[in-house]
Amino acid sequence: MVSMLAFGLAVGLVFPPFARLVLGTEEALSPLFFTLCVMAGLMVGGANYGLFSLVVSRNLRRVAAKMARVVEQVGETKASGAACTEDCLIQMTSNDAIGHMELAFNELTLAIAHRVGVDIAVTGLAETLSQSAELDHVAEGLLDASLSCCKAPAGVIYISDGFGFKLKAHRGVDSGEQLPMTLGAAQGLAERAIQNGKVELATDHGMTWFSLSTPFGTLRPKNVALVPLRAEGRTVGLIVLALDAEDLDSRSSEFLSAVSSMGGPSLQNSMLHAKLTELAAIDELTGLLNRRFGMRRLGEEYSRSIRHGVPLSVLMMDVDHFKRFNDTHGHDAGDEVLRVVGNLLDDAVRAGDIACRYGGEEFIIVAPGTGAADAGVMAERVRRKIETTTVKHAGQTMKVTMSIGIATWPMLACSAPEELVTAADAALYYAKEAGRNIVAIQKDPKPMLLRESSDNNRDTAVQPAVVNG
Ligand code: GH3
Ligand code: MG
Ligand code: MG
Repeated sequence: MVSMLAFGLAVGLVFPPFARLVLGTEEALSPLFFTLCVMAGLMVGGANYGLFSLVVSRNLRRVAAKMARVVEQVGETKASGAACTEDCLIQMTSNDAIGHMELAFNELTLAIAHRVGVDIAVTGLAETLSQSAELDHVAEGLLDASLSCCKAPAGVIYISDGFGFKLKAHRGVDSGEQLPMTLGAAQGLAERAIQNGKVELATDHGMTWFSLSTPFGTLRPKNVALVPLRAEGRTVGLIVLALDAEDLDSRSSEFLSAVSSMGGPSLQNSMLHAKLTELAAIDELTGLLNRRFGMRRLGEEYSRSIRHGVPLSVLMMDVDHFKRFNDTHGHDAGDEVLRVVGNLLDDAVRAGDIACRYGGEEFIIVAPGTGAADAGVMAERVRRKIETTTVKHAGQTMKVTMSIGIATWPMLACSAPEELVTAADAALYYAKEAGRNIVAIQKDPKPMLLRESSDNNRDTAVQPAVVNG
C-alpha cells in the first residue's frame, strides 16, 4: 500500500516539470497544477492498490489457504493412512500467470500425495515385516500388503526351498487341484519372472492354473502381476496377483517394486529362521524331535488335553542292554540301530502323535487323545516291530529289543506334564525289572505288565498281569 502511494506521489511530483519541458508553458509549474498532479498520483496509487487486492491478492490468499490445507492433509494422511482428497486441489480461475501458478500447485500437490501414499504403504509393510520373523507371518504379510495396495481380488505366494518354488499361501484363488504345489516350467510366465527377477504385468499370461473363486464360480483373471522377491541377486519367492485392469497406477507399481526388493531379504531371513528352528528341534542321528522340543510339545499337548478333557498318553522307551550291544558290535553299529529305531517310531506314530529322542537310547512317544488301552496296543505294536526288525551294518545282522513304560492322564492324576514322564519312567523301570522286552503301564498303586510273559528271551522269570487299559 505504502509503496503504491509513494509511486503515485512520485509520478505527481515528476509530472509538472515534465509537462513544462514538453509543453513549454510556465503554468505547468504553478502550485495549483502541482497540487492537482500530486493528488492525482496519490489517487492512482490508491486505486492500483485496490485493484491489486481485488484480483491478485485474493488468488494468492486462496493458494496460501490450499497450501495450509495440503500440509494439514499430509499430517492427517500419515496418521490415518487415508488418501489426499479432492479438497487439496485448487480450481483454475484463468489462463494467465495466476492460472499457470494454480496448475503448477495442483501438480505439486498430486506429486506430494503420491509420495506420501507410497511412503505410508511401504512403512506399513516394513512394520508388518518387523513384527515377526516367522515364515508364515512374513509370506502372508507380503501377499496381503500387495493385494491390498493393488486392490487385487486374489493372489498366491510361492517360496524357494533351494530346489523349487513351493506354494506358501493363497488368497481368493480357486485352491482346487489345479493350483500347483510347486512351480515349474509349465506354469507360464511364472518361470520367466523367477529368472528375470523383474516385476511384470501380463495379459496373455498362459497361467491356466491361476483362477479366482467367486460366488458365481471360477474365473480366470485376464491380467496378472508377477512380483519376484529378490535377495542377494536371486529370486527367493514369487507373488502372483490377479488384476482388474491391464495397468497399475504409479503408486501400486512403486509399491510392488518395494515389495520385490524389501520383501526378498525379509523372506530369506525368515526362511533361515525357520531352518534354524527346525534344526534346533531335530535330533541329528534319528531325525526325531530332540528332548527339549519334545518336552515343549508335551507341555502344549498336556494343556490342550486338560482344556478339552481328552486323554493323553506318554510312552517311555529304552533299548535293552544297549551298553552290551555297543560293546559287542561297536558304537557305529549302535548308532545305526538308533537310526533304525528312530525311523520305526516315526512310522509307528499317527499324525498328531509326537516321537522324540529323549536321550541316549531312550525315546518318548506323546499320544494326544489316546487312552491307556490304545496306548497299550500302540506300545505292544512298537515293541513287536522292534523285536522282529533286523539291522544290517558293516556285514553284521543284528537285533535289539525295547522295554516300554506307559503313563496316561487322566487314569493317573497329575498336575504337570513332567509327572506323566516320571510315571512312564517308573513303569519302564518296572518293565526292565520284569525281564525287559515288555510293556508296563503305570497304575495306582504300582505298575502292571501288559501281556503274558511267553517270551523265552526274557532275562528273568516274571509274574506279569494283563491289564485292560
Ligand atoms: P538297560 O537294558 O537296563 O537299559 O541297559 P542299557 O545297557 O541299555 O543301559 P545303560 O544305561 O547301562 O547304557 C546305555 C548305553 O547306551 C550306554 C551308552 O554308551 C549307549 N548310548 C547312549 N547314546 C548312544 C548313542 O548315541 N550311540 C550309541 N551307539 N550308543 C549310545
Ligand atoms: Mg537308558
Ligand atoms: Mg537301555
